[in-house]
Amino acid sequence: MAEGGFDVPLKCSPEEYKHFVEPAMREAQNSNFPSALDIVENGLNAHPASEGLMFLKAYFGYKIADTMSSELSSFPKVIQPLGNGALMVDGAMTSQLLGKFQEIVGILSEAEESINELLQVNPNSQEVVAFKGYIDSKKNQLGRESENMKATISNTPNIAGSFCVGCRKSISYDTQKVVFRKSSASQLEAWHLPCFQSKAKN
Ligand SMILES: [Zn+2]
Repeated sequence: MAEGGFDVPLKCSPEEYKHFVEPAMREAQNSNFPSALDIVENGLNAHPASEGLMFLKAYFGYKIADTMSSELSSFPKVIQPLGNGALMVDGAMTSQLLGKFQEIVGILSEAEESINELLQVNPNSQEVVAFKGYIDSKKNQLGRESENMKATISNTPNIAGSFCVGCRKSISYDTQKVVFRKSSASQLEAWHLPCFQSKAKN
């Protein structure tokens, strides 16, 4: 269901349906999920116990998160090979990417809250349980990716030191573009990108 169309029967009053579900679905048909979510949240302010609206809140939150995470694949690569075993890591981009991950995880957590509320009233609903599964696995996947990235960044100074081999000045791994290269002694050396490039020219 999370992949294809929406075919879950919603528990809603005719009034909730007319004023909130229908307009929200129209937005969703144009892939305008943030507007759809707004409409549903307004509806929940007026009808906090509406199970149909709770489900839609989680569903649209999931769709927003899903869209955002597919947009991340068009993000410039944070790690690029430069040839001869050298790797360029874009620290600023990595930090930005981590910020995006966090934003998406936040949206998924809100969707999950809504699903948990629904589960309390419908502990045996297969749709609700299945949908909670979708949200959880997406959240876990993003969490793993960002943990890996964070670990790489925070480990780097331990492995490669905090100073550029070229200019001997300090390196800021979470804001600068840094080149890593294996030195002869099976150690990793780190360079500011401009220092590495000017050395390569000489
Ligand atoms: Zn340098």
